[in-house]
Amino acid sequence: MRAMVLEDMGEPLRAREREIPAPGAGQLLLRVSACGVCRTDLHLVDGELPDVHTPVVPGHEIIGRVVAVGEGAEAAIGDRLGVPWLGYSCGECAYCRRGEENLCDAARFTGYQLDGGYADHVLVDHRYAFPIDPFYDDAEAAPLLCAGLIGYRSLVMCGEAEHLGIYGFGAAAHIVAQVAAYQGRKVYAFTRPGDSAAQQFAESLGAVWTGGSDECPDRGLDAAIIFAPVGALVPAALAAVRKGGTVVCGGIHMSDIPTFPYALLWEERVLRSVANLTRRDAIEFLALAPQVPVRTRVECFPLEEANAALACLREGRLTGAAVLVTGA
Ligand SMILES: [Zn+2]
Ligand SMILES: [Zn+2]
Repeated sequence: MRAMVLEDMGEPLRAREREIPAPGAGQLLLRVSACGVCRTDLHLVDGELPDVHTPVVPGHEIIGRVVAVGEGAEAAIGDRLGVPWLGYSCGECAYCRRGEENLCDAARFTGYQLDGGYADHVLVDHRYAFPIDPFYDDAEAAPLLCAGLIGYRSLVMCGEAEHLGIYGFGAAAHIVAQVAAYQGRKVYAFTRPGDSAAQQFAESLGAVWTGGSDECPDRGLDAAIIFAPVGALVPAALAAVRKGGTVVCGGIHMSDIPTFPYALLWEERVLRSVANLTRRDAIEFLALAPQVPVRTRVECFPLEEANAALACLREGRLTGAAVLVTGA
């Protein structure tokens, strides 16, 4: 099998040939057709995530078809499945027992502790592989698995918020904006100051207000989600939400948050993060997406051009989501 492998932090991925692994108990072997490129992959390659053990194959927005089924795994040969970031939970720790498997003490993550989808085959836990609605083709479906799921979980954490701010208009935001509009919410899109292309993109997805992250709409927002990995946006978002409003940080990594006056948090504003996803999030969101219907804008790259796709994401040269395709 072909795989793009992170062998040393900060180095480009290397194209390698590997033996195709056999599925163990509870595992499935997928032939990968598409895998999305997520900002977390950049954090991984740059050494910004703790406890990375190389070599590792990145990629946690995987679409593939089952080619071998391990003992006790539930799936049929040929099933088309999507594989997200959370790739294993223990089922026994206090978090798992409370239904908070996203916080499992022994969780393992696809394309981080488990080899991921920057490859033409991947082994996955059958509990963390989900059927994909036929409405989507493979490349279009890939961003649903992380940008979509983390975005959906972030949106759920905003409760009933009608006036919803979104900071950072990339892959997750372009999905959340569509779901939010479908739910009758009003989206306020905050982009890099002066980024008129991103603002026009947000308007095309139904945003009622667009502006730079240094601007404030003339009403207090009920909630705001921050997808950009920029800690300075936290006080900016707190200043934009009304009394009792919520600010949700949707990223796995963020630059330090500058000190800010307590007055920005006072009056029962809530600041929280979102970590990972649960299987329930995946089932709910993958059922909702084709009803909206969520359309994803993707730019496809051949698997071997993973480094180029990462560079485009790093340099902000994408308006949708980069997806690696294998030709399968
Ligand atoms: Zn991701
Ligand atoms: Zn657990």
